[in-house]
Amino acid sequence: MQSGRSGPHSDRPDVAPAESCIDLRSDTLTRPTPAMYTRIATAPLGDDGLGHDPTAKALEEAGARLLGKAAALYLPSCTMANLVATLCHAGRQEQVILEAQSHMYTAERGAATFTGTFPLAIAGTDGAMDLQRLADALRPGGSSLSTGMIGLETTHNNAGGTVPPLDHMRAVRAMALADGIPVHLDGARLLNAAVHLGVPACMIAAEVDSVSLCLSKGLSAPMGALLAGSAALVARARSLRKMLGGTQRQVGIAAAAGLEALATMGDRLGEDHARARRLGAGLNGLGPGLSASVPQTNIVQVDLSQSGCDSATWLDRLAAQGVLARPLGPWKLRLVTHRHIDDGAVEAAIRAFGACLPPR
Ligand SMILES: *Cc1c(COP(=O)(O)O)cnc(C)c1O
Repeated sequence: MQSGRSGPHSDRPDVAPAESCIDLRSDTLTRPTPAMYTRIATAPLGDDGLGHDPTAKALEEAGARLLGKAAALYLPSCTMANLVATLCHAGRQEQVILEAQSHMYTAERGAATFTGTFPLAIAGTDGAMDLQRLADALRPGGSSLSTGMIGLETTHNNAGGTVPPLDHMRAVRAMALADGIPVHLDGARLLNAAVHLGVPACMIAAEVDSVSLCLSKGLSAPMGALLAGSAALVARARSLRKMLGGTQRQVGIAAAAGLEALATMGDRLGEDHARARRLGAGLNGLGPGLSASVPQTNIVQVDLSQSGCDSATWLDRLAAQGVLARPLGPWKLRLVTHRHIDDGAVEAAIRAFGACLPPR
C-alpha cells in the first residue's frame, strides 16, 4: 500500500514525512509543530509514577478545563483511555452498549477479554444509535445481564466523521439516567465535532459522565490522549492506568506537545473540514464513476462501486500517482484531511483520481 514515492523522512520538524506524496490515510500522520518541539525541549519534568510530572499535571488541568470536567488523566493512547473508562464504569459480566460501527465496537472490543464485559452493538445512522433499539436493549425483560455503560462516539470515524446531534446525545443520556447507567464518550476527534457544531467542547462533554480525547490525530501531538470525568472517576482511572502499565515516568516530554495541541490546534481544524468538503465535491465532479460523501468534518468516504474497479486496484493506481488512501472494505476508500494537506494537495489529489478513472 505504501507508495514507491515515499521518500526518506525529513529532518525538518514541520514537514510531512514524504513531501512528494499526498498522504490521505489518516490525521494520525500529522507531525509535531515547531512550537511543540520548543515546548518539548523546555518542559519541566518529574517522575509521573512517583507523584506528578509537572508538565503532565498542567496538561491534565488544561484538559479538565477544556472538557468542563473536574479532572482529567493523560494516557498513552485513546484506546487505553476508552479501556480505562470501561473498567471504571462497568463491572465484570455487565453489558457495554455501543453503536455497531463505533471504534470501540469494531476496533477495541477485544478488550472484553480483559474487562469481562459483554459488548452489545446497536445499529445506528450516521453514528447515532437507533433509540428504540437502545430502549429495547436497556429493558431486556428477563435477561440476567445488567448494563454497566453506554458508549457514544463523536466525530464518528466509520460513519465518515459525522457528528451525532447534541439532541441525540441528550436523548441517550436521559434514557441512561433513568436506569442509572453511566455514559462514556469516545471523543477521539471531539474538537472536530466542536468545530462542526460551533460550540465549545465542554458543551458536548456535558452530556456524558466521561470523555476521551486523542491528542495525536488532527491536533498533531505525537502521542497521547486524555480521559476526563469526576474527581473520583479520574482517581480510579489513575490507579487502573498503573495496573495496565500505562503510567510513564518523565512523560512531560510527550505531554508538552499535548499542551501546545490543546492551546493552539483546535481552532485550525475548520481548515481541514473545508478541504475535505472541497475534496469530496471535486471527486463528485469527476463524473458518475465516483461517489464521495459530503463530509461534516475531515473524513471523506468514496464509493467506488460504479467505477468498475475495487479498492485494491484504486489504491495501487493512486499510489502510482503519489496519493495514499485507505480501503473501507472492497468498494470504498477513506480519505482524511489534516495539517499537511494544503489546498494544492487537495487539487492534486482530485487530479490524481481523475487520472485513475477507468475510461468509459
Ligand atoms: C483513533 C481512534 C481511537 C484510538 O486512538 P489511539 O490514540 O490511536 O489509540 C479511538 N476512537 C476513535 C473514534 C478513533 O478514531
